[in-house]
Amino acid sequence: MKIQAAVVFSRLATLTLVAAFSTASLADVGTHLEGGSAKIITLKLTDYQSALRKLISDGYDIAGVDVTNGTADVIVAPDTVIQLTSLNLGNVVNTKTIDPAVAPDVGYTTYEELSALLSDYHRRFPGILSVESVGKSVEGRDIWAVKISDNVANHENEPAIFFNAMHHAREVMTTEVAIDLIDQLTSGYAANPRTKNWVDGNEIWVVPMVNPDGNNKVWTSNNMWRKNTREGYGVDINRNYPYAWASCNGSSASTSSDAYHGPSAASEPETLAMMGIVGRIQPSLSISYHSYSELVIYPFGCDQQHAPDRVTVENLGKALASRLPKDGSPGTYAVGTAWELLYAVDGGDIDWYYDEHDVLPYVIEVNASAEGFQPAFTWRQRTVEKMRAGWGFMLDRMQQSGVRANVTVAGQRATSGVVTITPIAGDQQMGDPIRTYKIKNDGSFHIVIDPGMYTVSVNVGDRSIQQDVTIGATRLDLAVAL
Ligand SMILES: [Zn+2]
Repeated sequence: MKIQAAVVFSRLATLTLVAAFSTASLADVGTHLEGGSAKIITLKLTDYQSALRKLISDGYDIAGVDVTNGTADVIVAPDTVIQLTSLNLGNVVNTKTIDPAVAPDVGYTTYEELSALLSDYHRRFPGILSVESVGKSVEGRDIWAVKISDNVANHENEPAIFFNAMHHAREVMTTEVAIDLIDQLTSGYAANPRTKNWVDGNEIWVVPMVNPDGNNKVWTSNNMWRKNTREGYGVDINRNYPYAWASCNGSSASTSSDAYHGPSAASEPETLAMMGIVGRIQPSLSISYHSYSELVIYPFGCDQQHAPDRVTVENLGKALASRLPKDGSPGTYAVGTAWELLYAVDGGDIDWYYDEHDVLPYVIEVNASAEGFQPAFTWRQRTVEKMRAGWGFMLDRMQQSGVRANVTVAGQRATSGVVTITPIAGDQQMGDPIRTYKIKNDGSFHIVIDPGMYTVSVNVGDRSIQQDVTIGATRLDLAVAL
């Protein structure tokens, strides 16, 4: 314990006052909240971007932001408030005292309740919903994945879409959004043609609680806990993915930081569980639910980096955000990369999904600063209803402009290969760079892309075929034989 603290303090050499008062440093204030009160300080930042980077590099736990007002909510132990304000990053516009030992409102779903609930959904809807464990957490809890599709027991070679929630333990509303998604898709299936169309045409996968151990800690000892519970200090699962891991000051090497990235890329069983399910289903689109800040975030997380098919990624992100009105102020959710909206992030899930499996992946940060991580339970219904427009849009989008194909080689389903999409010169999509996609393990590919004229090239081994296509408002389904 002493050795750990020494490491932290050497990183924060200027913060010796903190060391004098407490064995906790600023960097681990979130870790050591048990047994005392804490403050959430809302700062109106003088220079939003540089101030957020300063707070992160000093190891502060930023709970959320308000992009429109240029404020950040910082969680600190009471004896470190003065350290925070003496940084002179902006004026304190609100101070909230919280007791981390108080459990969330009983309305929110615990891991045990979730496990029972998912069994119950399977019992009620066995033909369209199955539940499986995709791995065990550090403490041995099953991480549940729900599949919703017609003929759910079979792999029908349908395109996949992926939703997940609660990488971060304290973000209890996100699991509620996932449960509501499951509820809407199952209870609406029989009577709602739009819902039936989604379920029949896709494999819809949902992991409602990525971090069950952290969530247990939220209920039993610290409602501000964010990480998993590895060795007591925990790892931030959403800084533990292999893409760009620990590469751009978007995470911390200190075990006591709330953004600790772990000893190595994909060191955590929760991360591996997610990588396993995403690698198996290879979804076209995904949403990872977080809270809070009213944002839609897309790749990449490191400063100044953009996705190669930036136009596609941004257009879809903007369309998604435009469906999500903010709670307390006019307008809709802000949209951009993490480094544009917040600060650099490395080892995040969406960058890995995008880079490794060609997913168009989005983070949605639900709820506003005024609501925080665990708003009064009356916010539950408002929040999940709002989110229906977002995931509904994404499910619709699976059958809208894009191209999908099953690829065969000499009559056999392809098991590997690549597809490149090139905008045809003169078309409005000229600004969109060429992107290469992998053929999925079931021999198909599904590329969600804006309408336009493209050359599609499919290469398997030494065989290739090229076709010019016009992609309109609805998905183009092809059979490609090489
Ligand atoms: Zn989060």
